[in-house]
Amino acid sequence: MKFGGTSVADAPAIRRLVEIVRTRKAERPLVVVSALARVSNALLGLPLLAAQERKAAVETLLERHQALALELELPAKVTEPTVLEADRLASTLEVLGDTVPEGDLLDFVVGHGELWSSRLVAAALEKGGVRSAWVDVRSVIRTDGYFTSAAPEREGLPARAHDAFLHHLGTGVVPVSQGFLGSGPDGRPTTLGRGGSDYTAALLGAALEVDRVEIWTDVDGIMTADPRVVPQARLLTVASHHEAAELAAFGAKVLHPATQAPLVEAGIPCVVLNSFAPHRTGTRVISTADPGQVGPSPVRAISCKRGITIVNVTSPRMLGASGFLRRLFEVFERHRISVDVLATSEVSVSMTVENSFPLEKLREDLEALGEVAFAPERAIVAVVGLALRDTPGIAARIFSAIRSINVEVVSQGASSTNLTFVVREEEAFNAVRALHREFIEESA
Ligand code: ADP
Ligand code: ASP
Ligand code: MG
Repeated sequence: MKFGGTSVADAPAIRRLVEIVRTRKAERPLVVVSALARVSNALLGLPLLAAQERKAAVETLLERHQALALELELPAKVTEPTVLEADRLASTLEVLGDTVPEGDLLDFVVGHGELWSSRLVAAALEKGGVRSAWVDVRSVIRTDGYFTSAAPEREGLPARAHDAFLHHLGTGVVPVSQGFLGSGPDGRPTTLGRGGSDYTAALLGAALEVDRVEIWTDVDGIMTADPRVVPQARLLTVASHHEAAELAAFGAKVLHPATQAPLVEAGIPCVVLNSFAPHRTGTRVISTADPGQVGPSPVRAISCKRGITIVNVTSPRMLGASGFLRRLFEVFERHRISVDVLATSEVSVSMTVENSFPLEKLREDLEALGEVAFAPERAIVAVVGLALRDTPGIAARIFSAIRSINVEVVSQGASSTNLTFVVREEEAFNAVRALHREFIEESA
């Protein structure tokens, strides 16, 4: 059972969590939590504050956790380790001075959010009469040590997970651990990338061969669009692992993009549930080739991912030459930058990458291959559905629904489940709304 930031945000949320876990107690749950809402962002902002403001900001975060412990009437000793860690965090930030923080420091800093929230949750369960044990996930999730988006070592994970959790599960104790965190080969803390707690739940679930993974969040499940963008969005009661992964990869924040992979391998279903309305059915994400239509059209959901840059590489040397794409992608691999959408013509290649990657370094290396142009502030829109590639007329309907919006890159390829295209960032939400109206609302 993974609880995201809003599901542990305050005392009422944590009380709801305790009740939800209680209903599952007979099923021997393992609980994984995120940091309290907004804490990860606040932690990541600390190194960016003026040096003399950092100590007070750490104090404010500590006080929020202490106030929560008080409100939940938890024993004072629960926040003792948190106080020590906050102290050490403040000193580390002091030593940093005006230096730009590297990934290792960022991971050390941001990781406190999950350590602190999980102690509160473990203690709140105990207080509510559910025996629980706090487990440090960093000894279980070992990673390649790539700071800020580390890849977990899958080898040995089942053994480590069994060692850490089975004796608790076997004695009716609910282990409470942290999402998002891991440790590198040298033992230093790493993270799995923003939103990575869902991935942790899937990794641990697969390692322990659980019956299901529950993702408890602040919406009813996976919807036909982000309900914040499209208030008319509808719930998908069933989704395939494949489409959940596609939606996540193209911006549906409800699940981290890597979550489905371990579940598919292990054949474990995942259920996305609303911690504010625990009795609703949620979305069951399962292995199925046919999750069914939501309306008369085969389109099932629309997502968008903002903060994208289009990278264009043009080179006459591409003409009829083999090996060009290999050289091109070697550059991306070297920089560990992943490409989301790709389209090629005779002499040019268009690719999309996230703005957050170190793009200027990438540019230098790409220039050895051809002329390079970046188009920042773009967004990917993905239309996800059943057999889209094999449905005549779908592309015409998509592009006519957004005819006033300029489309810069289009890709529909190997996957028959989606058609993606790139627009200017400020037009992305309008495109999503127009497509939702065309395929989901009007076909109701
Ligand atoms: P948590 O803190 O529980 O991990 P997140 O904020 O990471 O929650 O993810 C939940 C949010 O994902 C929702 O509040 C919603 O705005 C957003 N979201 C984006 N796309 C979708 C979608 N297709 N279905 C449901 N939620 C979505
Ligand atoms: N707390 C982390 C984040 O905000 C991980 C997560 O919530 O999944 O990115
Ligand atoms: Mg999340």
